[in-house]
Amino acid sequence: MSATIDPEVLQQLVAQAVKQLQTEGSRPCAAAAAAPAAKEEYGVFETIGAAIDASAEAQHTLLFQPPRTRQKWVDVIRKTCLKKDVMEIISRMAVEETGIGRYEDKVTKNTAAARYTPGIEDLITDARTGDHGITLFEYCPFGVIGAITPTTNPTETIINNSICMIAGGNTVVFSPHPRACKTSIFLVQTLNKALVEAGAPDNMITMIRKPTIDATNEMIDNPKVRMLVATGGPGIVKKVLSSGKKAIGAGPGNPPAVVDETANIEQAAQDIVAGSSFDNNVPCIAEKEVFAVDTIFDYLMINMKGAGAYEIKDRNVIEQLWRLVSNEKGGPKVEFVGKSAQYILDKIGIQVDDSKRLIIMEVNKDHPFVQTEMMMPILPLVRCDNVDQAIEWAHETEHGNRHSAMMHSTNITKLSKMAKLMETTIFVKNGPSFAGLGIGGEGYPTFTIAGPTGEGLTSPKSFCRRRECVLKDMFNIR
Ligand code: NAD
Repeated sequence: MSATIDPEVLQQLVAQAVKQLQTEGSRPCAAAAAAPAAKEEYGVFETIGAAIDASAEAQHTLLFQPPRTRQKWVDVIRKTCLKKDVMEIISRMAVEETGIGRYEDKVTKNTAAARYTPGIEDLITDARTGDHGITLFEYCPFGVIGAITPTTNPTETIINNSICMIAGGNTVVFSPHPRACKTSIFLVQTLNKALVEAGAPDNMITMIRKPTIDATNEMIDNPKVRMLVATGGPGIVKKVLSSGKKAIGAGPGNPPAVVDETANIEQAAQDIVAGSSFDNNVPCIAEKEVFAVDTIFDYLMINMKGAGAYEIKDRNVIEQLWRLVSNEKGGPKVEFVGKSAQYILDKIGIQVDDSKRLIIMEVNKDHPFVQTEMMMPILPLVRCDNVDQAIEWAHETEHGNRHSAMMHSTNITKLSKMAKLMETTIFVKNGPSFAGLGIGGEGYPTFTIAGPTGEGLTSPKSFCRRRECVLKDMFNIR
């Protein structure tokens, strides 16, 4: 999954794409003069109402297309995103526009989303037959779906949601984060163009040119939008859940990793550093704190340093770092979210090279680095008396999000205890967090992990309605 385009050529392609959006397109993020939506806008509209109307029209066409045709559109999305230039542009643009994450990791995530998000095979029909005939239970479209996407995974979420929703026979109106506006426009237009060229209905994937909170509110209230999906922080999840419509909420986490004395410590260290530093720690599933038992604590630290972590020992420097990266409300300062360890350390006068992927430190359980979802490559470690204390503290620190957790152990009793107690959507045993998304683990990727509403790792059927179709007294062949 590595990138091979010449960096200079890539730079030119990104510059070209940004320039194009800044001229014709970029009424995008600047003030928008209300121009009528032209067909060549490829899914990008001046008003949210126009984006929804076009989406409804597209959905009406899609509704009468058979599943194999929907699979064809899904394949077009996959193929388009996997084109080398598209993949590299969206991955580069996302990092440049949002200032979040690492290019190589965006390539990995976008590739996983494009290649492995489930398609129509996810929609399995059940049938019941008996003396009175046959009844089919099928996954059917909701219609137009309004999907709100985060700054942290702007393109991954658009790719993943589009595949799932269109496989399910829906169309989608995206409301991206304003800080990922240009990247989202580029991707929506690229996908629509490819779909239309392949013969798909126009505007299966739409968005407003200039995303705002007002536009999102309007989308939430629009009666043509039959389902809402929010991938983001607690505010937007709460908002869609209070909308009175069917809503899927994929909210925040604060995933802990527990390491006990029975674990393969060298491997655990590798896995934790890899998972926690992946895309500079912005994935909602990434290890955000570690609880390790005392007897292996120091050895784990040594191995983590060997795996690319940089340790800060001085208490004063740890506090200086906290003041640097936190805001007055005790949350992460936006300008440090998704920045590299090298960048963050430089701001406190510590120079390291880019092979240092993660900043680690020993703190106590109540330290704000432990208790807060920071989304930056800073990983606090807490020394615990024993595995039961580590599990208890991990549970407490996850704050009931029931999102994700990891454990490194060979003690099946304790692995089972933690898995049960945490009640998280994703629980990874003896692997990095991203194994929970099918990256190096079994399963499939999703970028909308719906803990609060219970769909879990969303797939096409999450965006469908269960309907039944009854034929009385016939077609029972038993
Ligand atoms: P965010 O909540 O700031 O923004 C998410 C989206 O909601 C954006 O499009 C934003 O514009 C919109 N939004 C936020 N508040 C709104 C409001 N009041 N009205 C209308 N729209 C609003 O989150 P973010 O910083 O972009 O993303 C990071 C958060 O998302 C983290 O908490 C992370 O854990 C979570 N996340 C969860 C998942 C998951 O699958 N569960 C996936 C990715 C990110």
